[in-house]
Amino acid sequence: MSSTDLPTTDRIWTNWAGNQTCTAAVFAQPRDEDEVIAAVRHAIGRGLNVRVAGAGHSFTPVVTTGGMLLDLTRLTGITATDPTRLRASALAGTTVGDFGPPLWEAGLSLTNQGDIDKQVIAGAIATGTHGSGIDLPSFSAALRRVRLVDGSGEVVEIDESDPRRLRAAQVAIGALGVVLEVELAVSPAYHLTEEISYRPWQEIAEAWDELIARHRHFSFFWCPGDESVDLYQLPAPPDQPMADHCYVKIYDEVEVAEPDGIVSTVGHRVDRAYRIYPGGYDTPFHEMEYMVPAEHGFTAVSAIRELMRTEHPDQRYPIEVRWTAADEAYLSPNHRRATTVISVSGEPGTDYWPFLRAVDERLREFRARPHWGKLHFMTRERMTELFDEFGTFLDVRRELDPDGTFLNDHLRPLLG
Ligand SMILES: Cc1cc2nc3c(=O)[nH]c(=O)nc-3n(C[C@H](O)[C@H](O)[C@H](O)COP(=O)(O)OP(=O)(O)OC[C@H]3O[C@@H](n4cnc5c(N)ncnc54)[C@H](O)[C@@H]3O)c2cc1C
Repeated sequence: MSSTDLPTTDRIWTNWAGNQTCTAAVFAQPRDEDEVIAAVRHAIGRGLNVRVAGAGHSFTPVVTTGGMLLDLTRLTGITATDPTRLRASALAGTTVGDFGPPLWEAGLSLTNQGDIDKQVIAGAIATGTHGSGIDLPSFSAALRRVRLVDGSGEVVEIDESDPRRLRAAQVAIGALGVVLEVELAVSPAYHLTEEISYRPWQEIAEAWDELIARHRHFSFFWCPGDESVDLYQLPAPPDQPMADHCYVKIYDEVEVAEPDGIVSTVGHRVDRAYRIYPGGYDTPFHEMEYMVPAEHGFTAVSAIRELMRTEHPDQRYPIEVRWTAADEAYLSPNHRRATTVISVSGEPGTDYWPFLRAVDERLREFRARPHWGKLHFMTRERMTELFDEFGTFLDVRRELDPDGTFLNDHLRPLLG
């Protein structure tokens, strides 16, 4: 594509949650690798910065730009599967949900998934998207090879032969370049059983370590009030008290012969893994999420529960609690530590900031690190202190994009 073929209409972009918006000078939807390269070179030539929009499911300003905004939803599809090496490759715009059937046909499954499957794979990887399970890595940690267009407009491949660059690319918030294709470590195809239950906080508190250790996936939503489940569209029986109770999700691997072993009773399903993981949410909320070392998880969650009960009783969204395995990615919240993931949300249209600031303050003592796609209060100073290999990430970023073409106003102070 020559630069004159680029659509140059002003384009207003808004994220899923409705709290981030921008008007890009140039918006383009490349159809193939050559068009991505042409677009990036066009931007470099005009001094425009470049950001890529995934599915827009981040709550932070990680997509916004007044320069060039790229949408790679035309670059989709699984490009290779390797059941022997347990690998799957896909174009950057492939959604998490799109991995399910083709991987299954090849005898493979994604090792884990999160609360929704709407994200594009490059977007999920960029921010460290995760599911739950103390032994299960995030999408970022599963990245084994990435092909991207760097700040010189050149295609670069990063793989396991260069662990330094790979660990930078695993969580890069789009700051190393435009990702074209990724290769992930995946698992042999597996089925899951689902067990949804409603339990008083005290019961969860008493069985904490056992629940984490015994189940492949254990997670819960602690509800401050009966109405809290509705805010996240979590189904609860009408007579079920939810105040100071938890909506508990447990998934375990199980051997199943199809079709007889498939069970579709909600809350007790047995199915292929990709059909058990949830699809999406309809109603926006504004979410913040921090990860603390797993050994401090109970103390940290208890502190936020207490904060909500005493100082912020007006905040009604549940606390979501999950676990993630340690990994090596330089900007990962799980860098060299398994974590307990603590998420809170504010209601759109209300001033929830004092509450979020209080949560941030309370979790500082646990050396909490943020999910890059969810609201946070990170500064460069805090990042330097919290991420042991922050300097190495910055070195790689400068090697691949010395002029900062892929930074925006949110990322420049943090990663410039
Ligand atoms: C309802 C909801 C549920 C969620 N559930 C979970 C969950 O269970 N677990 C979890 O960890 N997170 C969860 N998230 C957060 C979400 O997974 C992350 O914010 C993720 O990054 C969003 O992916 P996306 O495709 O929407 O990317 P976007 O938000 O559009 O972009 C994210 C980042 O990726 C970059 N990017 C995208 N594509 C490319 C590319 N080709 N090249 C370079 N950079 C690129 C963007 O520039 C941006 O920096 C949830 C969010 C919502 C709204």
